Amino acid sequence: APVLMWFRQDLRLSDNPALLAAAASGAPVICVYVLDDVSPGVWKRGGASRWWLHHSLASLDKDLRAFGAGLTLLRGDARTVIPDLVKASGAHAVYWNRRYEAWARTRDEAIKTSLKQAGVEARSFNGSLIVEPWDIATKKGAPYRVFTPFWKALQASHAPPEPAGRPSKLQVIEGPGGEDLASWGLLPTKPDWAGGLRDAWTPGEASAQGRLGEFIANRVKAYAGTRNLPAEHGTSRLSPHLHFGEISPRQVWHGVEQAGLTGSEGGRTYLSEIGWREFSYNLLYHFPDLPDANFQPRFDRFDWTGTPDQLEAWKRGQTGYPIVDAGMRELWHTGWMHNRVRMITASFLIKDLFIDWREGEAWFWDTLVDADLASNAASWQWTAGSGADAAPYFRIFNPVSQGEKFDPDGAYVRKWIPELAGLDADVIHAPWTAGGLALARAGVKLGTDYPEPMVDHAGARKAALAAFEKIKDIA
Ligand code: FAD
Repeated sequence: APVLMWFRQDLRLSDNPALLAAAASGAPVICVYVLDDVSPGVWKRGGASRWWLHHSLASLDKDLRAFGAGLTLLRGDARTVIPDLVKASGAHAVYWNRRYEAWARTRDEAIKTSLKQAGVEARSFNGSLIVEPWDIATKKGAPYRVFTPFWKALQASHAPPEPAGRPSKLQVIEGPGGEDLASWGLLPTKPDWAGGLRDAWTPGEASAQGRLGEFIANRVKAYAGTRNLPAEHGTSRLSPHLHFGEISPRQVWHGVEQAGLTGSEGGRTYLSEIGWREFSYNLLYHFPDLPDANFQPRFDRFDWTGTPDQLEAWKRGQTGYPIVDAGMRELWHTGWMHNRVRMITASFLIKDLFIDWREGEAWFWDTLVDADLASNAASWQWTAGSGADAAPYFRIFNPVSQGEKFDPDGAYVRKWIPELAGLDADVIHAPWTAGGLALARAGVKLGTDYPEPMVDHAGARKAALAAFEKIKDIA
């Protein structure tokens, strides 16, 4: 009888513990992926994420065919799809790597129980974290709420073992009733907005490994300095690959270690970002409401006065603040935004426009190729000041000085806002301060070619601080 390998957010062949266990059983393996948009509480993938998923599944399918057969694709509520597949195929065991979202955990536990009741072996593994959230705790046994001690504890006691390779022996067979990937409609048709995504990304395990290798060879040494400059290719851009499990954090860690760079400033800083990913998952596991509710309940009383029109201007990159608009356009065009600019655009939405962070979280969810429930929710709450280990509310990003500091020659703004490309660096982050002559020379008519700032930042900042004053003493 065959074994089922249920692929989820672990779309790779190497260092995949569930797949290795399935292969080690010696039985033929049916490799299944279930598109489940219907389980209760599910966060259905957004458009950019569905684009990525399509190509990642196609890539995995191709890689699996070398072992006998490709992926068996099924759709629906996994609580019925998986047991039905077990019956139809006569499988005696189901293996998978864990997920940590509340809805997925509830679903997976139900499946495990029903399989076991039916006498089918059901085993789950850790395929996507360095440390399981239940294996790391403070001295008092509580979950960590602050990053630095969490990261210290992780490094001291949970440094990952060497990653495993691909299964040496694996016989994949096709399962009954598989569907055709094209029939799932994961790709956009009319309009086809994915051109920028296609130019920027190649989903799949081979591409993930290629990116890691290139980053370690050329960029990690300088990472501590270049990681904050959105015009440079200073970061690894592994986030969608990590999200879909095309590469494991163990492989990333090991790559840096093997290059002898764990002690270097670049390597240390880089690995601590992998640490933020772990920390986000740790928070999501212990505080399952993280994507939906303020971690600090006092923010429930915050007065969100921003309007739908303002939200729309933010989404479209038409706020009149160039660094904000450049970021929002990079996101729309490529499905990714530089981390520094994610913080600036998020702060602007929350603290300049007074729009609830959950609106921004939802837009990022729909448009990011790396949309990740844990990292997205933790980062939005961090920026809002409502989170566990959060930026203090009064730390409000100034979009002009942030632009001047991190995009000093304006290259990032010029790339994404061609309307402003002719402006000099000293005014490009605040075009309304350029004289009429400078604007005319650059061919820009403010209010026509590019908007005037939609709010006055200094005034908005004062109002935000006053609004926070009202809630800050609530327990
Ligand atoms: P690198 O700098 O090369 O970092 C390496 C890896 O570390 C990343 O691939 C990512 O997996 C992890 N990482 C880095 N920074 C963070 C962080 N702050 N929190 C958690 N993990 C991190 N990241 C997502 O993966 N998905 C999201 O949906 C997401 N939403 C965000 C929303 C906001 C408002 C903000 C401020 C940040 C968000 N991030 C999110 C975190 C971060 O911006 C991205 O992980 C990073 O920009 C990805 O680019 P990179 O792979 O080049 O990062």
